[in-house]
Amino acid sequence: MIKKEKAVVVFSGGQDSTTCLFWAMERFEEVIAVTFNYNQRHKLEIECAQNIAKELGIQHHILDMSLLNQLAPNALTRNDIEVKEGENGALPSTFVPGRNLIFISFAGIFASQIGAKHIVTGVCETDFSGYPDCRDVFIKSLNVTLNLSMDQQFVIHTPLMWLNKAETWELADQLNALEFVREKTLTCYNGIMADGCGECPACLLRNRGLDQYLSTRKEL
Ligand SMILES: [Zn+2]
Repeated sequence: MIKKEKAVVVFSGGQDSTTCLFWAMERFEEVIAVTFNYNQRHKLEIECAQNIAKELGIQHHILDMSLLNQLAPNALTRNDIEVKEGENGALPSTFVPGRNLIFISFAGIFASQIGAKHIVTGVCETDFSGYPDCRDVFIKSLNVTLNLSMDQQFVIHTPLMWLNKAETWELADQLNALEFVREKTLTCYNGIMADGCGECPACLLRNRGLDQYLSTRKEL
């Protein structure tokens, strides 16, 4: 454990950020979760995040980011935009331009206010669906920018950056949180908790990873 240091976790209530929350709790003396409300299509996402933070006894802040939806309406916030994979190199309809730039920057401002040095985010380049702001190079660049902009020594941690979904489940298991993450998080684009609808791109990725991990786990 990195004693006496605070970490701010960018927390959505989904599988990845909940795993990051457990990861941070093992390492930092004080963990604070920050959730961004940008009028997600499913209000349940915010409720899930609230319930998880409450159950884990984590200080939780919900920040209003509805401005993002005014600028860039997308399939995560609007019912009339279909969730679909990008074709011919195009970004998927779930991509929100600048989302991680804005969220992690605001997490940085918040961290500077409360004297936290560490920022933890569940972004991942391995399964990244083509989102440019999930790439390691972007996070490293933003870390430098935040430090220069606020004269701080932030460290952005990305424990999932190089993990595939099966390995993310494995990490949750190592943190003794596999069942918790499986039952209490919401990843599904159709707003169904835990194992979800089983059909949307987020569920396919999540459930395929879980099946893959559980099949190797049984062999142990
Ligand atoms: Zn689903």
